[in-house]
Amino acid sequence: MRGGGGGWMGPERSLGGMPRVFGLHRQFEEGGDSRMPRIRRATPRRVGGYLLPYWRQWLVIFLCVGASAGFGVIPPLLVRGILDRAIPHHDPRLLAFLVLGMIALNIVLGLIGVLQSYLNARVGQDVMVDLRNDLYRHVQRMSLRFYTTTRAGEIISRINNDVGAVYGVVMGTLIAIVSNFLTVLATLIAIFSLSPQLALLAMVVVPSFYLPTRLVGRVRRRLSTETQEKQADVLAFMQERLNIGGMLLTKGFGQAGADAAEFADRSREVADLQVRQAMAGRWLFMSLSVISVAGPALVYWYGGWQAMRTGLTIGTIIAVVSYLTNLYRPIGAMANVYVDVQGALAVFERIFEYLDLEPEVLDRPNAIVLDQAEGRIVFEGVTFTYPKPLWRPPEEDENGAGDAPEPALRDLSFRVEPGQRVALVGPSGAGKTTVTYLVPRLYDPDSGVIALDGRDLREVTQESLRVQIGMVTQETFLFHASVRENLLYARAGATDDEIIAACRAGQIHDFIAGLPEGYDTVVGERAFRLSGGEKQRLAIARALLKDPRILILDEATSNLDATSEHLVKEALATLLEGRTSLIIAHRLSTILQADQILVMDHGRLVEQGRHVELLAHAGLYATLYHRQFEGVVGGQPPG
Ligand code: ADP
Repeated sequence: MRGGGGGWMGPERSLGGMPRVFGLHRQFEEGGDSRMPRIRRATPRRVGGYLLPYWRQWLVIFLCVGASAGFGVIPPLLVRGILDRAIPHHDPRLLAFLVLGMIALNIVLGLIGVLQSYLNARVGQDVMVDLRNDLYRHVQRMSLRFYTTTRAGEIISRINNDVGAVYGVVMGTLIAIVSNFLTVLATLIAIFSLSPQLALLAMVVVPSFYLPTRLVGRVRRRLSTETQEKQADVLAFMQERLNIGGMLLTKGFGQAGADAAEFADRSREVADLQVRQAMAGRWLFMSLSVISVAGPALVYWYGGWQAMRTGLTIGTIIAVVSYLTNLYRPIGAMANVYVDVQGALAVFERIFEYLDLEPEVLDRPNAIVLDQAEGRIVFEGVTFTYPKPLWRPPEEDENGAGDAPEPALRDLSFRVEPGQRVALVGPSGAGKTTVTYLVPRLYDPDSGVIALDGRDLREVTQESLRVQIGMVTQETFLFHASVRENLLYARAGATDDEIIAACRAGQIHDFIAGLPEGYDTVVGERAFRLSGGEKQRLAIARALLKDPRILILDEATSNLDATSEHLVKEALATLLEGRTSLIIAHRLSTILQADQILVMDHGRLVEQGRHVELLAHAGLYATLYHRQFEGVVGGQPPG
């Protein structure tokens, strides 16, 4: 049938029956998501679950951190030895020993650092790989609803960006906390053992910088979030305008000047924010640096006084003062530890939110692995409503919560015997595509049963079910890979001979052989583009290679030239041979050859039978038939 379409079987549609929304916007928005997810109680434990498998490495990392903190207290002691012993006692050997000790210590610290960096990188990357794999497997298990309702960019953003953030969080926050804590502890012990009074004196100034640091940390974080949001706006703006569609609009409406001005404004906003961020707390920090000088000053004053009175050594005073940096810096860093930990957990929380989405179609624990099926398909009282989107912006939820969606299939019952050819016919939106989704269990029915060879589909594993079913849809999706690799996707073990045989039967071999690199030619969106008819034949060859018992075919509505149409028809004839087939029919020949025609309307089966019977019945089928094919029949021999 030339150029079917029209009211007969519905328009072309993308998989899932809904237009896809590609939301790159969202991806950028997420970069600046100021909303911190609520941290659930189980989250820290789950994070632990991802870190724990690497406990040996963690142990070594923390030993390294501990060793660095511990060794960090030694240099001031060496200085003290030089000042208090080597010089006063005129002991050049001790002097040399202490100086060499300083150098040796630095070498050791350097080596520890190298080991720790390696382990950090290793563990951090391994944890990310684990998370990515879990996410990938998880989203694979999600039903089609997930993919029709989730913006493409978002899934990838989660797997890529959110997991990417884990590295910084785990390696930065966690290790910094431990390192700071141990450094403070080691330093305090060292100072107290040198001189408890000086230690207490040094501690007096701690609150005076600890609290303001916390404050500034908060301001900075707020500014940084705001900056990210504005940056995301700029990115989204560019994304929208600097592409072919946006540019056509811009040029078409002569808006180039206005757009450039808006871009300039937005960029300036970001720049201003970044300056503010850089300056936030600068004044405060300046005053703080004055305060932190108070620490050493107090130590020199009291220590000097003690030196005069009780003979406290100069080396001790110098050592204590050098310890102060080791003390104040980590304490300052720990001022915002709570916020840091919350931020770190939030990164995980966003990933866990995704991992917690329940796949709707699940294998039962005791699901049976289906052997070679006979191909008897029975629908019994099947009612199915497309589920609501999993994720909706909250504002949509408020408005759209009340309206219950219409069922796509209502109380549908029919029976297909093994080897039968069944044509699905009906107006657009009747539910034909939905039927073809339920057979491979891309969704489960709300009520009723779908059975294959007398077995409820929910009793068998999805994988063993889908091995039995081949799908040839209107739009053929090809991966960006060679023709051969695309074909092997149907059956990994296929030999070259089998591939060629399938392609011959699919009427596409000669075409492929004529391509620049034959079966190794890379096809797909960004490579060699195949015409509609060529893609269809390749899809048919792919299905032939899979050799399923059951075939689901959505006949193309698009116009093919006569040669192409002829080749596709030939290929289809071979493909349908000896299989149970469910066909969303657009060609008259298909309908005439069908063993059974199911006429659907509004999700119901309204008529059922063979062409002649249905025509005689003078119902919906007859109406559709007359509208679509009258006048054509004479010109085209049926079948
Ligand atoms: P046909 O293939 O006969 O044109 P479909 O099976 O695609 O009809 O659609 C049946 C009904 O289900 C239609 O009302 C359609 O709008 C609705 N529908 C189809 N796909 C989806 C989806 N992914 N989510 C929600 N509703 C859908």
